[in-house]
Amino acid sequence: MVITGDRITAVDAAVPAGTHVVNLGDLTLLPGLVDAHVHLFLHPGAEDLQTIQESVPQRTLSAIRAAKADLMAGFTTERDMGTEGAGSADTAVRDAINAGDFPGPRLFISGNAISVLGGHEDALGYNPAASIPPNATLVTGARQLRAAIRQQIKEGADFIKIYQTGADSLRDGVFRTPYQFTQQELQAAVQEAARLGTRVAVHATGEPGARFAVEAGVESVDHADQLSPETMRLMAARQIPAVPTFAIQEYFAAHAPTAAARAHERAMLAYHAAQFRHQLAAGVPIVMGSDVGPFPHGTQAREFELLVQYGLSPLLTVQAGTLRAAQLLGQGDRLGSLEVGKLADIVAVAGNPLTDISALTRVRFVMKSGVIYLQP
Ligand SMILES: [Zn+2]
Repeated sequence: MVITGDRITAVDAAVPAGTHVVNLGDLTLLPGLVDAHVHLFLHPGAEDLQTIQESVPQRTLSAIRAAKADLMAGFTTERDMGTEGAGSADTAVRDAINAGDFPGPRLFISGNAISVLGGHEDALGYNPAASIPPNATLVTGARQLRAAIRQQIKEGADFIKIYQTGADSLRDGVFRTPYQFTQQELQAAVQEAARLGTRVAVHATGEPGARFAVEAGVESVDHADQLSPETMRLMAARQIPAVPTFAIQEYFAAHAPTAAARAHERAMLAYHAAQFRHQLAAGVPIVMGSDVGPFPHGTQAREFELLVQYGLSPLLTVQAGTLRAAQLLGQGDRLGSLEVGKLADIVAVAGNPLTDISALTRVRFVMKSGVIYLQP
């Protein structure tokens, strides 16, 4: 493979004289990995307390460190699904990485995710008289939703993230999650985002919120623990992917503070895994997204192993974290495969991921836009 500047200019061709040669031996070459659901502004530990106890400058510096860890694990492109209370500080992180000031993935950012008053990620459970910053931008109705979208795009967001469901519960095998925005409100959001040349992604764990989002025309349904047959049919027909984020569920189950919480998290993961098989059977497209942040940055290739464990083929799993994720980001013509004309985002792993998906956890070489960040 020949790289010229930031592009792949030849594959399986003779190396021109005078070229700097990097011999990677028997490592397997892949397109740079793409994680479609990350939080650079989160680290392990209570998410709401990070917003309360850490300044935005402090969190921004942590995000810079997290970005480097993700890149070194092979993730050359990421969709950041919200700063969780750090406003539009992700704009500075994205721009500094693009300017070459810090090593990190090519970022597509959403600013602060949008939710409803008293809803998911609104600082609940505190003294009502205290001023507690929430982890989301809170709006009521389509008018405020549009205004929040305009503000976030103004501040640098590439796309819009909306919290559409929560809090989740699973009792006696019945999964419940209240929806947050009506279908009409989500339609207004999708329309406003489209007017500004972008799209909406939702956190939607179940019904009827997921259906509202899919009917409104969102770009992806993230988490997707529970999807009705009709929602699955629509997602397959319209090629709207689910982004399952199993890695975070596994981590929460392993690190729950009490035995009861651990049992609940385990039950949620088992429920989701069973639902995932129905989603695959229904032809719902799958994109890799780990929700890394609440678990340590740079370890999220674990998501690939879980996708295979829960029934996605190794080939579709690799594509879920390369080509299909790039397509979700509207970057299918620039990223996601090793082809002439595409950006030179290349990783090399020990082993063959099609026979052993854990190979993706052993990234030994990372190139982004023709620049080498990790060498064996
Ligand atoms: Zn998330």
